[in-house]
Amino acid sequence: MKIIDGKVLAQNLRAEIAEKTAKLKAEKGVTPGLAVILVGENPASVSYVTAKEKACVEAGMFSLPINIPVPTDNGDATLLSRQIENKLLSTIAELNADPKIHGILVQLPLPKGVDEKKIINAIAPEKDVDGFTPVNVGRMLIGERCFLPCTPHGIIKLIEFSGMDLKGKHAVVIGRSNIVGKPVAVLLVRKETNATVTLCHTGTPDIGAFTRQADVVVVAAGRPNTLTGDMLKPGAVVIDVGVNRIPDATKPKGFRLVGDADFESCAKVASAITPVPGGVGPMTITMLLWNTLESALAAN
Ligand code: NAP
Repeated sequence: MKIIDGKVLAQNLRAEIAEKTAKLKAEKGVTPGLAVILVGENPASVSYVTAKEKACVEAGMFSLPINIPVPTDNGDATLLSRQIENKLLSTIAELNADPKIHGILVQLPLPKGVDEKKIINAIAPEKDVDGFTPVNVGRMLIGERCFLPCTPHGIIKLIEFSGMDLKGKHAVVIGRSNIVGKPVAVLLVRKETNATVTLCHTGTPDIGAFTRQADVVVVAAGRPNTLTGDMLKPGAVVIDVGVNRIPDATKPKGFRLVGDADFESCAKVASAITPVPGGVGPMTITMLLWNTLESALAAN
């Protein structure tokens, strides 16, 4: 059984991105620029944003962190949300027009009451390096050139890195969210990938009946133990997207991170599996850098 090491793949790809970034700078005097907008001080969001900024700088890119404070609560929640929305929309409009910025990312989730769809839609599709705008999603669906969403793109790279040729294989995806499950299924079914895809969700009566036929299982449910070894065909490849905190008194923070797959039982049956942490996670930021570089190359 092989561990699919997302840190190693991410490192390899980041070295390639840094090299291409240096070449773009040397030949055209252009530094790819990524603006990351954070509203408020949610600790998880702060740590995600910090990691993105650090990776950006390490790749030789220009990082523009923008922090939008949440205005003081005056008792009118609608007004508060509207104020945040207006600030976000004017910030995005400025960044859309700024030639130094090739990628714009709004860290989600936004505070309650703020219309996320309206905010994401305001990002110019040619700077939407998260691949979340309806224009990019539509282009991906019909197979046009676009920014692929980072986590799903990273998942495809990890499957390829495991040594599996997806052509003609049966892939089962568990979870149908707009940011992971559905786009992964779309990428797997593209002609160049050519897998046969089954998409499972909470309305699927017996998920094991499908996963036991799968050559590759991508589990993105956000629930520990959604996938166990008895649900796998021997030799299957498992990509575990889930990140779940479970209480653990032996850890300094009082919790540890686990995926959606029961690692121990799955590892006994699978031929390859991603660990949590250290699997999909490092790939998400890497594909963000990839898209930012692509954007800068396309604009120059
Ligand atoms: P989400 O929006 O909560 O969607 C979860 C999906 O899984 C839903 O479609 C849900 O079905 C389905 N589901 C939940 N429990 C299930 C079960 N027991 N059996 C079958 N399907 C089930 O979550 P998400 O944003 O896709 O994220 C999924 C997980 O991946 C989370 O743990 C998240 O933290 C992690 N994640 C990691 C990264 C990374 O970079 N490492 C990036 C993104 C997400 P219904 O639609 O029927 O409710």
